[in-house]
Amino acid sequence: MRAVTVTPGVADSLELVEDQPEPAAEEGAILVEALAVGICGTDHEIIAGQYGEAPPGERRLVLGHESLGRVLEDPTGTLQPGDLVAGIVRHPDPVPCPNCAVGEWDMCRNGRYTEHGIKALPGFARERWRLQPRFAVPLDRSLGEVGMLLEPTSIVAKAWDHVERIGHRAEWQPRTVLVTGAGPIGLLAALLGSQRGLAVHVLDLATTGPKPELARALGATYHSTQVDDLDFDPDVVIECTGAPKVVLDVMCKAAPTGIVCLAGVSSGGRTIDFDAGALNRALVLENNVVFGSVNANRRHWDLAAEALRRADPLWLGSLISRRVPVSGYADAYVPGPNDIKVVLEFAV
Ligand SMILES: [Zn+2]
Repeated sequence: MRAVTVTPGVADSLELVEDQPEPAAEEGAILVEALAVGICGTDHEIIAGQYGEAPPGERRLVLGHESLGRVLEDPTGTLQPGDLVAGIVRHPDPVPCPNCAVGEWDMCRNGRYTEHGIKALPGFARERWRLQPRFAVPLDRSLGEVGMLLEPTSIVAKAWDHVERIGHRAEWQPRTVLVTGAGPIGLLAALLGSQRGLAVHVLDLATTGPKPELARALGATYHSTQVDDLDFDPDVVIECTGAPKVVLDVMCKAAPTGIVCLAGVSSGGRTIDFDAGALNRALVLENNVVFGSVNANRRHWDLAAEALRRADPLWLGSLISRRVPVSGYADAYVPGPNDIKVVLEFAV
């Protein structure tokens, strides 16, 4: 069968192979026909040779961690043939660490977890794949065009879950959320903020293209200013840019008892002048919290599936800027100037 693969560590080794073996029975009892995979920055980093690890004993890695498929067979009876399903990306480490031992593999302590399409497990950019029931997340049938957004939504579902857990350390009545960065993660974070009834503000450099309208369609206020120029202090910040100046600015901008979730990954290596003492004063004297968040566990995937089910399918569809058939795979992996989310389609 066909699969989109790379040789990890070798730049530009992206290749559509025709002779990928059928998924091994050990991958799980549920056999799934691929419908589509979403493409993100992690895929671009893997293709650039900066990241990624092939399964043990193999040279190539099948790409794809933002999955959507249709169940072909499930002898366990967990799912029915025809059901829409997505595969959870991360699997717990084999030790396991205390977190992986209780299903919180998103909080793995030893780094020995594996990830489909990223780290030592084949990805979902192949015509068929298999899942164990505990890594199979069913999707409402209304999500047949957009269900590959579940993986990025699981990331923001975890971010919101942890914001709320931290918030409840004391009386907590948030009213405003600032989301920095209006890519797929930022826009989905804004969606989940609007579903919570908060006043949502989205900040991004873009003044043209689809981002301002996508934010406004959620009822959010769109800003293309500096963080310092905002005329309010947000109760919650979901930082999705990883841009050093934005990261530092939002930590200083949060309201008293504010919570800042850092969900963007900086590239590092660039330094800027910064008054660490002033930041310390702001955090201590206002009881503020800054925390990092990555990945998601089963509970977050289920929360994300519910959030997508409640969202406007037309808005979700408008996040997808390009749908590319698998035969045009090379094109799909080249970022375009106005791309939000690019999707590679298998069976259509
Ligand atoms: Zn672990």
